Amino acid sequence: MGPALLWAERGTAPLDVLADFPAIPDGWAYLDTAATAQKPQVVIDAIARGYAETYATVHRGVYQRSADMTLAYEAARARIARFLGAASADEIVYVRGATEAINLVANSWGRTLKPGDRILLSQLEHHANIVPWQLLADRTGAVIDVAPLTADGHIDLDAVEAMLTPQHKLVALAHVSNVLGSVLNARRAADLAHAVGAKILIDGCQSVARVAVDVQALDCDFYVFSGHKLYGPTGIGVLWARADILGEMPPWQGGGAMIDTVSFSGTTYAPPPGRFEAGTPHIVGALGLHAAIDYVDAIGLDAIHAHETALVTAARDRLSTLNSITLFGPGDAAGIVSFDVRGVHPHDVGTILDEERVAIRAGHHCCQPLMAHLGVSATARASFGVYNGLADVDALVRGLERVTRIFG
Ligand code: PLP
Repeated sequence: MGPALLWAERGTAPLDVLADFPAIPDGWAYLDTAATAQKPQVVIDAIARGYAETYATVHRGVYQRSADMTLAYEAARARIARFLGAASADEIVYVRGATEAINLVANSWGRTLKPGDRILLSQLEHHANIVPWQLLADRTGAVIDVAPLTADGHIDLDAVEAMLTPQHKLVALAHVSNVLGSVLNARRAADLAHAVGAKILIDGCQSVARVAVDVQALDCDFYVFSGHKLYGPTGIGVLWARADILGEMPPWQGGGAMIDTVSFSGTTYAPPPGRFEAGTPHIVGALGLHAAIDYVDAIGLDAIHAHETALVTAARDRLSTLNSITLFGPGDAAGIVSFDVRGVHPHDVGTILDEERVAIRAGHHCCQPLMAHLGVSATARASFGVYNGLADVDALVRGLERVTRIFG
């Protein structure tokens, strides 16, 4: 398919925003956005302003600067709520990232699980959406089930339907696989979970920057993501949960800011979201995340999705002409292409590509159960962001041609 057609088919034009990203030098193909996204200047500026001009603590200060910072910090929460289609800003809990969000749910909501209760995960989950549930299962006697994948690498929702029972209390699934790029039909997954009375947690780490999300339309119960994958800073992320669910959840970490009153005869806790935000938060991180969401929304997630799926199509088309390459995942993957070069370890692929100024990820991508399913110990992974274009696909293909020449 010709380059123009790649986008025309999707009713959009290619994005042209590379100049917004000062840390991407000319001629460097950054293809590791699934690990972490580069930052646009507006995010860097928001962070710099937060420290250099407006910095103060939040929620506690009696002075004007602190009151202003509190307003900015809470405005970011309201912006996140609007971005996710949440019913209220009180449904947004600031966390360090998706990993902490999932641990929060496992440690707080999960406390009520008992022996014989079941949790359903899938074969393609990131370790962050496996290990917290294993720790919870060890503590409570709950049992974990693992849903299989379809031949093209989607979570098999027909199998999920057949596996779910009234013993299932939670279904926790990735919206977009960080290895295969496969997109979950999250609404159908939510309907299946609810049909047996289970809650559903959607790991939105890879979807939040690639697919328009409306948590109410998806009808999920928990949605988690990390700010750094959404062109925002590291160290800040979001747990969204429905207000009625958050209201029932006990605190999981104790400290300042999460209390109502403290005495040695008994302590009472703040309502959500404060109840889950012990300690001084990542104040400037929230401002950076706000700027990142404004940036992404101004481009539009539908345009971003169209752009990245066009790049995936181009990459898959080109790579499939190299006969030493095995592609993993579906043709309609969102922004991510994993592959294997026959007879070459992915780390060697990554090292040679780096010499060609192409940055990819090589490894198990924190998805060892998925690697076992694919029958490999690691894959090479190219993942796209708003700043990538067809020149990056060309650079990847040229680099891989060199890999195959070197390794014969
Ligand atoms: N879930 C998925 C699908 C991911 O891709 C990642 C990060 O790679 C995580 C969870 C964990 O995110 P973080 O390390 O930012 O907490």
